[in-house]
Amino acid sequence: MRLLTVGSVAFDAVETPFGKTGRIVGGAGTYIGLSASYFTSSQGLISVVGDDFPKATLDSLRNRGIDTTGIQVKEGEKTFFWAGKYHRDMNIRDTLTTELNVLEHFDPVIPEDYQGAEVLMLGNLAPSVQKKVIQHLRQPPQLIVMDTMNFWMETAWEELKETIRLVDVLIINDEEARQLSGEYTLVKAAKKILDEGPRCVIVKKGEHGAFLFDRAHTFFCPALPLEKVVDPTGAGDTFAGGWVGYLCKSGDISLETMKSAVVAGSAMASFCVEQFGTEGLMHLSQEKIDKRVQQFVQLVDFNMETVT
Ligand code: AMP
Repeated sequence: MRLLTVGSVAFDAVETPFGKTGRIVGGAGTYIGLSASYFTSSQGLISVVGDDFPKATLDSLRNRGIDTTGIQVKEGEKTFFWAGKYHRDMNIRDTLTTELNVLEHFDPVIPEDYQGAEVLMLGNLAPSVQKKVIQHLRQPPQLIVMDTMNFWMETAWEELKETIRLVDVLIINDEEARQLSGEYTLVKAAKKILDEGPRCVIVKKGEHGAFLFDRAHTFFCPALPLEKVVDPTGAGDTFAGGWVGYLCKSGDISLETMKSAVVAGSAMASFCVEQFGTEGLMHLSQEKIDKRVQQFVQLVDFNMETVT
């Protein structure tokens, strides 16, 4: 299945208890694209950058098999910039700066080759832009997946709710699920979100794993306990990229495949957090990914004998 991804391609500056970066390449679209590229070579990425964005980075996305004809380069404009600081509990972060720059007036254009893509991944972006992409597709995809964040709940509530109504799967983190639904328990939060339209919701809980809910089932996958975690930025997007990438590779969107995809997404996210920025996603191999997936399988594999 062909994958069409839309999301920010950005500069980030990140501070964690383990160090501080200068301006590095980030963006939801970048993380999703790189992660999905380990599963599918039929992926188009839609985004916008300024003329300050390194051409070498666009080349490295192309080298990973990503079609970048949908990434507009705006002369005389600046790339989106985000800065964040993580606490000692790295599930908690403060956004220090969000400079929309080129994203402020972003008008997405769908590359002709990706009209008819079977899976649409709407990475974190203004919900009005996400909605425009859906509207610009001549054929409805088999699956529309959407990520979002608290920033849009605070600045574009109505558009966000409208866009959520149009998608099949919503991927968000636990705090965002609570904020969106007004419910504290994730089970109630998921139910409320499912009532809004999506048929499936994935709730990410950082180092505590991820839940997948549909109306009849709940599935959980833990995160891998890692010795080294230096920068969680992009882990959620990397999860989403691995999740949709796995579905595209399988050519199947059944519940069972969606569950396996949660494991694939979690494995990809575990590579992401081990290094700053996108570094952990640049030099992976099928063998490394397969090994990591097996670690997940072993982590939750046990025999339960009936004791009489
Ligand atoms: P995550 O850690 O998965 O939530 O994603 C972090 C990435 O999201 C960073 O690389 C940022 O560049 C990007 N990002 C942060 N805020 C926004 C926003 N308001 N719109 C689009 N992308 C954003």
